Amino acid sequence: MKLKKRNFMGGFNRFRLVLTLGLAVLLPAAALIYVNFSQLRAFERDKVLEAAIHRDFQDVLAITEKRINKKAFTMAEEARDLFPSPDEDIHEKEKKLDLILAKSPWLAHVFLFDEKGFVLRSQPQQMSDKYFREEHDHMIEAYHWLVTEGKMQVENLHKRSRPSVSGSQTKRSNGDAFLATAMFVLPQLPKDRVVLGGATFDPCFLKQTLFSGVLDEMVSEKSNDQGGNPRALMIYAPDPEMGKEIKPLAATAGWGDGKPEVVRKFDDGFRPLAMGIKYQGTSAAALGQTLVHRSFLILGILSLMIIGGLLLTKHVVSKEMALARLKSDFVSNVSHELRTPLALIRLYAETLELGRITTAEKKQQYYRIIRKESERLTALINNILDFSRIEAGRKEYEFRETDIAELVRNTLDSYRYQIEQQGFEFEENIDSNLPAVPVDREAIARALVNLVNNALKYSTDEKFLGVKLYRENGVLKLEVLDHGIGIARRDQSKIFEKFYRTGDPLVHNTKGSGLGLSLVRHITQAHGGEIEVESTPGKGSKFTLSLPVTSSTSQRGNALQSA
Ligand code: ADP
Repeated sequence: MKLKKRNFMGGFNRFRLVLTLGLAVLLPAAALIYVNFSQLRAFERDKVLEAAIHRDFQDVLAITEKRINKKAFTMAEEARDLFPSPDEDIHEKEKKLDLILAKSPWLAHVFLFDEKGFVLRSQPQQMSDKYFREEHDHMIEAYHWLVTEGKMQVENLHKRSRPSVSGSQTKRSNGDAFLATAMFVLPQLPKDRVVLGGATFDPCFLKQTLFSGVLDEMVSEKSNDQGGNPRALMIYAPDPEMGKEIKPLAATAGWGDGKPEVVRKFDDGFRPLAMGIKYQGTSAAALGQTLVHRSFLILGILSLMIIGGLLLTKHVVSKEMALARLKSDFVSNVSHELRTPLALIRLYAETLELGRITTAEKKQQYYRIIRKESERLTALINNILDFSRIEAGRKEYEFRETDIAELVRNTLDSYRYQIEQQGFEFEENIDSNLPAVPVDREAIARALVNLVNNALKYSTDEKFLGVKLYRENGVLKLEVLDHGIGIARRDQSKIFEKFYRTGDPLVHNTKGSGLGLSLVRHITQAHGGEIEVESTPGKGSKFTLSLPVTSSTSQRGNALQSA
């Protein structure tokens, strides 16, 4: 009945443990992992990082365009402020325009269009370049469009308040070039006069100074973003033929080759140029992939850690539960063990008290039983007290130089009668000439009594007890041998644990607390020694307690401490 209840409790606890671990830890952990996992999948599917990087790239390109425009506008306005009035005579106009060219080597041509005509001046030192000359001539021929369009241009320029810049492809003796012309109105003139000024930027200056300068500025300002991946920027003239390789007009150092990730056409000035941006040596897609892979890896490791933690928790909790079960067994065992000798003592004492026992021999037998049972009670209570001291860390040993042979002999003497009474063949083999060793007498005696008691308790058919004390290789050995039920191999390491009792039916039917051997081990280790068991089930067991002969300093320390 009792057993059933305990099993039920055990089963219930295990169920509760699994339920708690499952509901409180596993379920939220699994949910968290699942949510993270699906978020990562969505992140990967929707290319979230790539999109964010591209948005950032767009922003960088917009800022780049603004800066280039601002610089170009400011330079054009500086030139504009030096422009001659349309009312001056032609020589004066030419002189002033030449002066502007001399002051601003970044300009290739300057021109003034007014009601009287068109004055174009070009950098004199570049006139030796055939293409430059052709460009100059072409501009003079082309000015006619201003005659028809001039009025509209002036109106537009008045509206936008800043110069307008537009570009076109041209040629120089060293290859293709890009030319950009800023057009403006002269602010001091009334709005209804059709007067236009123009300044054409030198292709070399555009490429090497203006464009390159701003691009480099953008890269060095932004290079610390995105995990330190430096960007690369370039400006190119989009080819009307699609699919042709993009050839940068100006690019930052790290551009290398390859396609831009994001492009933007110049919107305000410098049409039809466009800008491109990418990472040096990597791509947004590759960065996104790396991030996703790394996150998956971290998630995987975390999941494994959670599973590991759960297994560990389950292991620890199971162990604690097993210990709790052992403890409850212990309580019932001990109560049982206390009750039996007490009942016997009471029974025999009452019988004696009633005076019904007349023979002296019978009385002697009853007295002996009472003494034996009280001794058993004392031994059990001593074990429990020692155990509780050990558990509380308060157990102290008192080491004294001791003739150990005598100690063993005396201890056995008080048991001899009981041993022989129980029908045991008893073999005692104690070496004389053993050196005195510092031990706690009471503790060593208790260890021996526990071993002897076990030998008596766990022997059935062949009742034999052997106790041997000898010295071997500087170690004192105390052997307790029986021909009893023996201990299965898997139990041999566990029997020294507190409360542990083997599952043998004989053990089950024998009284015991499961504390004896754990005390023996504690006592032995406190003496710097060790306890070993050799056993064959059905054949018997041999417990060997080894104590070092040379007293170690730690023992002396302990001895002093407890003195
Ligand atoms: P107890 O004897 O009170 O159960 P112990 O700590 O002394 O506790 O022993 C633990 C267990 O080891 C015993 O329950 C028994 O199963 C086993 N054991 C100890 N000594 C022997 C022995 N000499 N022969 C067989 N089994 C033994």
